[in-house]
Amino acid sequence: MRTIGILGGMSAESTAVYYRELNRLVRDRLGGLHSADLLIRSVDFAEIAALQAADDWIETGRILADAAAGLQAAGAEAIILATNTMHLNAADIAAAISVPFLHIGDATARALAARGVARPLLLGTRFTMEKAFYRDRLTAAGLDPRIPDAAGRGRLQAIIYDELCQGVVTPQSRAEVQAMIAAGRHERADGVIFGCTEIGLLLSPEDIDLPVVDTTLVHCEAAIAFALG
Ligand code: GLU
Repeated sequence: MRTIGILGGMSAESTAVYYRELNRLVRDRLGGLHSADLLIRSVDFAEIAALQAADDWIETGRILADAAAGLQAAGAEAIILATNTMHLNAADIAAAISVPFLHIGDATARALAARGVARPLLLGTRFTMEKAFYRDRLTAAGLDPRIPDAAGRGRLQAIIYDELCQGVVTPQSRAEVQAMIAAGRHERADGVIFGCTEIGLLLSPEDIDLPVVDTTLVHCEAAIAFALG
């Protein structure tokens, strides 16, 4: 089994899901006492979030590239970055390592295609929904991503940072995100991307009457396919 390096802590809530899912997938495949061979480098998310808010993506890129190089030096044979948003720095990270960087957007695009989705509603942070880096990756894969309206995007940003990343899950926020999905469906979205690694803490695909791709889960599947491939 190959060793996977997880660049995590963004937030710690979702890195815990990665840890559980990666181990569950290995146990499902190999059985018995098998578990994933992992290295985790978990950063202080308050520092990263402050840099995001200041639009200092050069400094976040430097921090994450250093952390990725550290994971490789420690023995990681591939790196996964356990957040959609920070894939804005994917190129900085990939340039700092010589092992594969398993991009969350590629795992997501493959999963959408497998489910027959062409016009996914992308739910994530303001950065993921509004900046080009993530939607361009999906568009390059032949998809036509949609995003909530400005009010919905602002509300989702607050739900992610003020609640989910701090371990707070409320029925009120769940209902609000479900309403955003209903509006997206009205605008002809034919699937939903949980494009933030914490959204699966709030909603499960069974709550939604459209095909759903939870980026956390498909990213873990891609990592384990590499580890055991
Ligand atoms: N984990 C989130 C994501 O997947 C948001 C936190 C962050 O900005 O990294 O985008």
